[in-house]
Amino acid sequence: MGQRIDGRAVSKALLAEVAASVAKHQARGVKPTLAVVLVGDDPASAVYVRNKGKRAAEAGIATVDHRLGADTTTGELLALIRSLNDDASVDGILVQLPLPPQVDADAVLLAIDPAKDVDGFHPENLGRLMIGDPRFVACTPLGCMKLLESAGTELSGARALVIGRSTIVGKPMAQLLLAANATVTTAHSRTQDLAEEVGRADVVIAAVGRPKMIPGAWIKPGATIIDVGINRGEDGKLCGDVDFDGALERAGAITPVPGGVGPMTIACLMHNVSLAASRR
Ligand code: NAD
Repeated sequence: MGQRIDGRAVSKALLAEVAASVAKHQARGVKPTLAVVLVGDDPASAVYVRNKGKRAAEAGIATVDHRLGADTTTGELLALIRSLNDDASVDGILVQLPLPPQVDADAVLLAIDPAKDVDGFHPENLGRLMIGDPRFVACTPLGCMKLLESAGTELSGARALVIGRSTIVGKPMAQLLLAANATVTTAHSRTQDLAEEVGRADVVIAAVGRPKMIPGAWIKPGATIIDVGINRGEDGKLCGDVDFDGALERAGAITPVPGGVGPMTIACLMHNVSLAASRR
């Protein structure tokens, strides 16, 4: 029976650390501030933004919300980003994704000042991660690394499998594991034999978005499993990409969904805002 990695507890400890560093910034007259840009009325995005606001308040970080209509143009959004870039009181800029279809999302992410890109999605920050000189690391992969650390998983020399190759999760995740000296494989939709890949991995990071696609029987006994997926199962309940109950039997340690990676993502965002404020 494996260890259940408690993402809520680890995120709480991280938020407490962030709150302590925020208090130091405040003592020297700097008020760490996150600008949150929400375009349109996607209900899930509204929930994420509300949660981020709550966690920010807990850490002592001020948030300034910018809500724009669903018919906002790329030009209008770029004008807002430029004004936030120029605003010395703003440390971090977060543009909640997804953006409505008429908006050029790449142009918007590219317009964010890399020094305020607390999501770590700007090509400059992704490139810095690749060359081994990271500044802002994307929050979900960073959170996964902190969970691996909390579980005491040895990464040096370990075989690590990242399932999924998105720019916001899979690719930066693989870079972080590589930097930690793991032997990294990235699996994706064209991978021939996923079961075989999973079966030889000491560490599995699942970031696909398909409910329980990885059965427990695939898992190498003792492996550490970090489940990034957030899905609605057939029973209507939230679940990950890994069959948690089956995997718990074989894994050394595993994150649940919910209560695993999700809370870490938000805590790492706050960590990045505090890091941004340390540059003021
Ligand atoms: P995405 O759709 O951009 O990428 C999914 C990846 O899965 C793709 O690279 C694709 O190649 C791969 N894939 C698809 N089918 C596959 C298959 N059969 N076998 C192997 N790989 C396959 O998604 P994303 O934005 O990277 O998010 C992935 C999941 O993580 C989603 O469920 C999302 O909701 C969740 N997520 C959670 C958090 C969090 O904070 N917990 C943050 C971001 C994303």
